[in-house]
Amino acid sequence: MELEQGAAILRRLKLKVTPRRLEIICCLATEYSFLSAEEVWSRVRLRLGSIGLPTVYRILDELAEAAVITRIFLSNRKQYYFLCSNQDHHHHFVCESCHRVEDLEQCGLDAVSREIAQRSGGRVTSHILQINGVCGACCQGHSGVAA
Ligand SMILES: [Zn+2]
Ligand SMILES: [Zn+2]
Ligand SMILES: [Zn+2]
Repeated sequence: MELEQGAAILRRLKLKVTPRRLEIICCLATEYSFLSAEEVWSRVRLRLGSIGLPTVYRILDELAEAAVITRIFLSNRKQYYFLCSNQDHHHHFVCESCHRVEDLEQCGLDAVSREIAQRSGGRVTSHILQINGVCGACCQGHSGVAA
């Protein structure tokens, strides 16, 4: 991703365009998979020089709160970050073997919203859903990508 594309994403969400935010977005954009804060840090440090890990955490959290990037959760309880070019509401299928992330077209939670409305008259305002599994390539034994 070009820096200009990263800047456009930030402007669309009315976030201030700063060199650090831009580098972090562009760093995540070059990945097919997700990165930990430490991995982001080791990459952006090469270009930004003096940036501390706590600052990287803070910016990643800001971007996640603004829904620019998605948090990915693995069974090791660590948090990872993923940048998806699809800005529409959707969920992700995460391969536990090669860590590839695929977009899902179906949300499938309408029935849950209806149940909540019927059960208690409540209303769903948002939801977080991550589907874990093994991708097709890994199922066939040739992911071609080291995890
Ligand atoms: Zn896989
Ligand atoms: Zn996506
Ligand atoms: Zn959904």
